[in-house]
Amino acid sequence: MSNAELSKRDLSVLWHPCTQMKDHEWLPIIPIRSGKGVWLEDFEGNRYLDAISSWWVNLFGHANPRINAALVQQLEKLEHVLLAGFSHEPVIELSERLVEITPPGLDRCFYADNGSSAVEVALKMSFHAWLNQGKTGKTKFVTLENSYHGETLGALSVGNVELYRKTYKPLLLETITAPSPDCYLREAGESWREYSLRQFEHMEKILRRQADEICAVIVEPLVQCAGNMRMYHPVYLERLRSACDRYGVHLIADEIAVGFGRTGTLFACEQAGITPDFLCLSKGLTGGYLPLSVVVTRNSIYDCFYDDYENLTAFLHSHSYTGNPLGCQAALATLDIFNDDDVIGNNVTLARAMQTATAELADHPHVAEIRQTGMILAIEMVRDRTTHEPWPWQERRGLKVYQHALQHGALLRPLGNVVYFMPPYVITPDEIRTLAEVARDGINLATTG
Ligand SMILES: *Cc1c(COP(=O)(O)O)cnc(C)c1O
Repeated sequence: MSNAELSKRDLSVLWHPCTQMKDHEWLPIIPIRSGKGVWLEDFEGNRYLDAISSWWVNLFGHANPRINAALVQQLEKLEHVLLAGFSHEPVIELSERLVEITPPGLDRCFYADNGSSAVEVALKMSFHAWLNQGKTGKTKFVTLENSYHGETLGALSVGNVELYRKTYKPLLLETITAPSPDCYLREAGESWREYSLRQFEHMEKILRRQADEICAVIVEPLVQCAGNMRMYHPVYLERLRSACDRYGVHLIADEIAVGFGRTGTLFACEQAGITPDFLCLSKGLTGGYLPLSVVVTRNSIYDCFYDDYENLTAFLHSHSYTGNPLGCQAALATLDIFNDDDVIGNNVTLARAMQTATAELADHPHVAEIRQTGMILAIEMVRDRTTHEPWPWQERRGLKVYQHALQHGALLRPLGNVVYFMPPYVITPDEIRTLAEVARDGINLATTG
């Protein structure tokens, strides 16, 4: 089988996610035959360094021997069982360990099978918890400008990336949007902390005026990933937590992308020392192996639903593959690696290597900013670095970086004109340097002419 043969078969029967399929008249599909560590290999032996962790899911490399072994063992015992009325060891142990490692006060795990569904669960649970307490007026959610929480209609409603949302607007829930603390937009000379604090005043005003109709505020802690890797200061989360307490509003932390070490701590909320009322996790939860998601919440929320059956207060939400044993086993093996290998400590070195390797781009005439939070580093390409004037989106300059990288053995998939690294944690400093060179050449190519 060659790449070309497989692409032809693919394009006659598949419809790919997040893709204008007509692009594939000139942009080749790349069929992958195998993966090992940070490397993906196609059917002609070309190798690609997976700098974006296959859409932010992979933590410890492809075909990781420890996760593979755990899955093989689980396969011999139990592939799946329903989670209503039944249970199994992997889901019990995983729940115990998640309660242990998540911020204090989160004591209950509710499972789903993808990130968007976890967001739906958190939204419904928040609304329903208030309802069960007799607060019928709380029907709205507050979201941040430029936020992303998934693609199903509820999750899309609380998201704010125009590209994904605009078309479906007539179908979506009405939400309240607060300006983002995104520090790319700060004034010259203003610190991240000052800007995030200043932006919090808008949020404070919304909560003060409208708390009676608000169920929850939903945020992506520290990094708005799909919103072009925009970042903000933890002080925003600190203030948000105390305002939510003051005004009687839930706080939903969507750590689907930033959880499991991406920001430098196991969970981003730790950097603000806060506990949300709902913590949504997916993506890295299974090390990038299998679809699984979880909402970890407080016993005080759980208690709002706990009553005699006839009172009809139960949370009657389910997905067929909720808490799948294979997914849970992959998650347990992933947590074992965090335990055994001092991953968070080693990532400090890798994060520094990413910073050093890209430092030369700081003065590039078409780079407005290089920003970094832990293991996420982003390079903002612009037409004019002093005014931050962007390139017209129609020019698709990020796509040129993507194509250049593929020809040079790397999978970089810029978000618009933002080139970013979010690699598996098994990447080496040498590989980081190679990646930075590919990115630099790609950026040079994409910004000339
Ligand atoms: C990816 C993502 C989601 C959606 O997860 P899916 O598994 O793709 O549905 C939600 N929130 C954030 C912050 C994400 O990055």
